[in-house]
Amino acid sequence: MHRGTEQIGGCVTEIATDQTRIILDFGTELPDATGQTPPNTLLIDGVNFGKPACDAVLFSHYHADHTGLLDTILPGIPIIMGTVSKDILLALYRLVRKDSVSKVEEAIAVPALKPFTIGDLQITRIPVDHSAYDAAMFLVNNGEQKVLFTGDFRFHGFRGKASDTIVQKYVGGVDVLITEGTLLSRLNVPVLSEFDIQELIKAVVKKYKYVFALCSSTNVDRLGIFHNNTPPKRYFVCDRYQKEIFDIIADASPSDYYKFRKALTYGSNLDLRLKQKGFVMLVRKGSMLKEFMRQYENDNQAVLIYSMWNGYLDGRDQELSRLVKPFQESGRFEMLHTSGHAPLDDILKLISWTNPKTIIPVHTEAGEVLAKGNMRENVVLLDDGESFLV
Ligand SMILES: [Zn+2]
Ligand SMILES: [Zn+2]
Repeated sequence: MHRGTEQIGGCVTEIATDQTRIILDFGTELPDATGQTPPNTLLIDGVNFGKPACDAVLFSHYHADHTGLLDTILPGIPIIMGTVSKDILLALYRLVRKDSVSKVEEAIAVPALKPFTIGDLQITRIPVDHSAYDAAMFLVNNGEQKVLFTGDFRFHGFRGKASDTIVQKYVGGVDVLITEGTLLSRLNVPVLSEFDIQELIKAVVKKYKYVFALCSSTNVDRLGIFHNNTPPKRYFVCDRYQKEIFDIIADASPSDYYKFRKALTYGSNLDLRLKQKGFVMLVRKGSMLKEFMRQYENDNQAVLIYSMWNGYLDGRDQELSRLVKPFQESGRFEMLHTSGHAPLDDILKLISWTNPKTIIPVHTEAGEVLAKGNMRENVVLLDDGESFLV
C-alpha cells in the first residue's frame, strides 16, 4: 500500500506476484484546507521513477484523486481504464491539462465484466455506482487467490441496486478485500439516497423560474437529475465543455436517462428567451456562465442549488465561496448533495457478499472503525509503504 491508509484521496495500491506487478490508481492528494494540492512526493521505483518496471497501471475511475499522477507514469508502461472513463478524461484533459492529453490517448480502454490478462493475473472490471460514471472495482485473480479492490463506491445511487447481483455473480468470495472507507470518519452524518436528492431538487426547480446549479461536470447521475427534471417549457443550458461530456455519455449509454436531449450550449443570442421562459443552468467556477449568473443575483425568482461536497465552501476554495456568496446572503441558496461513498453499513454489506479472509481499508481517515467491528480478526491496518503477503 503505497499511499492512502490514513487519508482520503491520492491512494496508490500495488499488487504483485513473482512474475507480475500492477498499480491500482495513481492519483493526486486532495486539496488541503487552504485549497492547495500538496506537491507530489510519491516516487515509486519502476513506475514514476527510475527505469520502467511495472506491467500496468489501472484506473478505477476518472476522479483526480485516482488519476492525477497519470502523466508521471514512465513511458512504455501500459495504462488501463474503462472505455467511457477514457473519453471523459480526454475531454477533461483537453480543457485543463493539455500537455498530458497524449498520455491519456495512450490508455488501453477495457470494457466492464470482460476478464483480461496481465502476466499471471486475470483482471475484471466490476462496474459499480459512484459519483463518477463508469467507475469500477477490480477483481484480481492469480488462479489461487482473489483480491477485490473497490476503488470508490456506494450503493445509494441510481445504479446501486444492481451491485448485489453483480458482485455475487462476477466476484463471489474473495481472499482479500481492499475497500475504500471514506465515510468511516463521518459515521453520524446521515446519507441520503440519490432518489431523495432527486425529490429535493425537483421541488426547488418547480419553485423558481431561474435555477442555477453548481455540480461537478462529471457527476453524471446528478446532472441527469437536473436535466430530467427541467420542466418541458424551460431551457436546460450548459457550456460547451459540459455539452461534450453529455455527448460522450449519450453515445455510451443505451438508457434514456442519459440522453440529455434538452441540453443547450449557451450563447448570448439566447438571453432574451432564457429570461422569458426560465431555465435550469449548470454553472462552474471556470465557466463563462458565472458572468451570466451575476445578472440574476438580485432576482427573487432565481435560486442557486449547490450540489457538491460542502467541504469546498469551508475556505479551501475561495473562488467558489465568492461565487455562491450573493445567493447565500439572499437566502435563495440550497445545498442538495449526497456522498459518492459507501457508509459503514454498505461496506459491511459488501463484506458479507464477498466473505473476505482479509480486509484492508484504504481511502480513509478511520480504518480502525472496521477493526472494531465483528470482523476485527480479518481487518489488517497497514501503514503507507507497508506490504501484506497473501
Ligand atoms: Zn476517491
Ligand atoms: Zn471518486
